[in-house]
Amino acid sequence: MKSEVVIIGGGIAGISLGARLAKDHQVTVLEAEIQPGYHSSGRSAAVYIEPYINETILDLTRASRDYHLGYGAVPTRALTVAGADDLVDLDAMMARWGGLCPDMQLVDPRILFEAVPIIRPEAVVAVACDPSAMMLDAHTLLEGFRRGLVAGGGRVISNARVDHIERGARWKISYRDQHIEADILVNAAGAWGDDVAQMAGVKAIGLQPLRRTALLVDPGLDFASWPLVHQAGGGLYFKPEAGLLMVSPADEHPSPPVDAQPEELDVAVAIDRFEKMTTVSVKKVYRTWAGLRTFLPARTPAVGFDRNAENFFWLVGHGGFGMQTSPALSELAATRLRRQETL
Ligand SMILES: Cc1cc2nc3c(=O)[nH]c(=O)nc-3n(C[C@H](O)[C@H](O)[C@H](O)COP(=O)(O)OP(=O)(O)OC[C@H]3O[C@@H](n4cnc5c(N)ncnc54)[C@H](O)[C@@H]3O)c2cc1C
Repeated sequence: MKSEVVIIGGGIAGISLGARLAKDHQVTVLEAEIQPGYHSSGRSAAVYIEPYINETILDLTRASRDYHLGYGAVPTRALTVAGADDLVDLDAMMARWGGLCPDMQLVDPRILFEAVPIIRPEAVVAVACDPSAMMLDAHTLLEGFRRGLVAGGGRVISNARVDHIERGARWKISYRDQHIEADILVNAAGAWGDDVAQMAGVKAIGLQPLRRTALLVDPGLDFASWPLVHQAGGGLYFKPEAGLLMVSPADEHPSPPVDAQPEELDVAVAIDRFEKMTTVSVKKVYRTWAGLRTFLPARTPAVGFDRNAENFFWLVGHGGFGMQTSPALSELAATRLRRQETL
């Protein structure tokens, strides 16, 4: 008899783990919203960056690379741009990551001016090029995992906001006046991870959702082949997205777990920084959105059974790397679950 696993949260974390477990467990994913990926997973910039956060995230990202190439990822370059004000940040980035990512090199800024002709030359004093970056296809990625989950006999129930959890010999989980029992309860509720834990009588672990803003503009020339451009000081990035240019002020505003919405001020800051770095004058913003990137203090995810709550498995804290690490992180989580490993 396969053990029953209920996963709370139908974002990339919950769906990808469900896909990995479906072959040897009976898996049900409960998602509060009308469809999987409604929150952070449907709002990401969907880029793949190897020199990011720390060595753990680097390893998980690199271990995910080949999988992504089979699910719509397109290799690109990430160009990190420094002006006089943030040259020190570029130097710090090269000192931190240069040895771990030797393909990342300082390059002649003319490479940037040729690739992205809207850049103001006077705004740039140095450029680093990381040739290992990729543009991911978030929809194809999530849908690929969902199909794997269903093919393995698992199911995803949408419109199923869990509002009560009881612990007995098994877990009893309630949503919409319905109940489901499970041997193992997985908490993949993203920004709501601590709320779900408390509902189950489990101690919270200190998740902090941070709101990030994005907008789509038209720079007025053919940008389909442009790389990801990132300001060394961290206040701006932009990249081609859905036939337009996605611009983000790379903001991190502490937020409660909510359906995040963009603030006008953050949109204005993004436009101002974009106009200072480029020759574009933004006449029209085609779309704005915001999403939550949820971190633990160490900025590494929590993957494993709670030490004090039997059969309660954490898969949260995916921050700004949940898409790029999902293939390897879901494999790691499935292995830890099968081996009964704790946090
Ligand atoms: C603007 C932005 C840019 C980003 N850029 C990148 C990037 O370039 N690369 C990258 O790798 N990552 C990026 N990220 C981060 C990435 O999107 C997240 O790490 C990832 O989506 C987190 O996935 P998740 O499944 O943990 O959370 P979510 O996708 O938020 O899923 C959690 C789900 O749990 C559900 N839930 C919560 N409570 C309950 C309940 N009680 N009952 C049932 N369901 C519940 C929610 O409805 C939600 O759908 C970005 C994020 C944002 C916002």
